[in-house]
Amino acid sequence: MTDELIVDRLDRPLRDLRISLTDRCNFRCSYCMPKALFGANHAFMPRRELLSFEEITQLARVFVRLGVRKLRLTGGEPLIRRDIELLIEQLAGIEGVEDISLTTNASLLTLEKAQRMKDAGLNRITVSLDGIDDAVFKAMNDVGFPVAQVLEGIANAEAAGLAPIKINMVVQRGVNDQDIVPMAAHFRGSGHIVRFIEYMDVGNSNGWRLDQVVPSKEVVERIAAKWAIEPVAPNYRGEVAERYRYTDGSGEVGMISSVTQPFCGDCSRARLSAEGKLYTCLFASAGHDLRDRLRAGASENEIEDALRQIWSKRVDRYSEVRTHDTKPIDTRKIEMSYIGG
Ligand code: SAM
Ligand code: SF4
Ligand code: SF4
Repeated sequence: MTDELIVDRLDRPLRDLRISLTDRCNFRCSYCMPKALFGANHAFMPRRELLSFEEITQLARVFVRLGVRKLRLTGGEPLIRRDIELLIEQLAGIEGVEDISLTTNASLLTLEKAQRMKDAGLNRITVSLDGIDDAVFKAMNDVGFPVAQVLEGIANAEAAGLAPIKINMVVQRGVNDQDIVPMAAHFRGSGHIVRFIEYMDVGNSNGWRLDQVVPSKEVVERIAAKWAIEPVAPNYRGEVAERYRYTDGSGEVGMISSVTQPFCGDCSRARLSAEGKLYTCLFASAGHDLRDRLRAGASENEIEDALRQIWSKRVDRYSEVRTHDTKPIDTRKIEMSYIGG
C-alpha cells in the first residue's frame, strides 16, 4: 500500500467508497423510484453493463491504496444481486479495509443470508424503514410491503450478530412525519439506532420541494417533548449523523441534516455506480467511467493515476451551495436508485 494518500482541492481526503450493486429495486419508494417513472417499461441496466464482483474488488483495491478505509454496499436494492456474500468475502480480503457495511430495505434479509454475509466479513448493516405504521409504510414503498417483514429482517440481522443496527427513516412532511415519535418509541431500548434523514433533492424524478423537508431541529424538538434527550459527541470527525441519547439510558437516535446543515466540508465519500462510473458527489451530473478503462486492460497503477487526477481536482460542495438559496440547483443529476445514497 502506498502512503501517498490524496486530498481534493478543498483538502478533503478520500476515505469512504459507496458501491452500488444494481439500479434495480423491488420497492418503488415515492421519493426515490416513483412508479410513474420506474414503471414496467423502464429500461434498467443490462447484466453485461454491471461490474462483476472481480471488477468491483479490483477497483476497491485501488481506492484503498489511495486512502479508502470504509466500503458501503448499496443500490438500488443490493440484496437483489445474487451471492453478494461472495463479493463481501473478496472485499474483506483487501488489506487496509477496516469496515464493510450494507444499506438495504431488508425485504430479502433472511437469517441465512444475514449469517452468510456476516461470516463473509460484513461488519454493519443499515436498514431503511420509513414508518412504523403499516399503512404509512406500505404507501411509501408503494408495493404494499408490510412493516412486520422489515422488522423480521432486522431481527435476522441481529440474530446473525450484526447489531446494533442503524435504521434510516427519510422524513417527508405530510407523508410520514406523524411517525417520528412512534418510530423512536418502537426502537427505544432495542439497542438499535433510528436515524432521521432530511428529505433531499436528489435526482430529477421525485419532485422535491423545500416545504416537504422536516428540519432535524424540529425532529429533535418532537422527540424531546416526549423523552429527555441530550447531544452526544460524534464518534469521529466527519460523522454525518448528529447523535442524541435518551438520558434514561434507553439508547440513541441520530439526525442527518443534509439540507439544513450540510456537511460538505468533511465529505470524504466517493460513489461507484453499478456500471462502474465514479461520482465525486451525490449531486453530480456526470461520472467518470472506470469500467471501460478496466475492460480495456488498464493496470491497477493506471487506474490509480486516473483516480488521483479526478480526486485532486474535486471541488464539489453541492449541499452547501444549494442551502444558500434553498432552491434545488437546476442541473441534470443522477438518481438515488442509481448511485445508492
Ligand atoms: N434500497 C436500499 C435502501 O433503501 O436501503 C439501498 C439504496 S437507497 C437509495 C439508500 C438510502 O437512500 C435509503 O435509506 C433511502 O431512504 C435513502 N434515500 C433515497 N432517496 C432519498 C432522498 N430523496 N432523500 C433522502 N434519502 C433518500
Ligand atoms: Fe428501493 Fe431503496 Fe430507493 Fe426505496 S430507497 S426505492 S428501497 S432503492
Ligand atoms: Fe458530499 Fe456532495 Fe453531499 Fe456535499 S453535497 S456532502 S460534497 S456528496
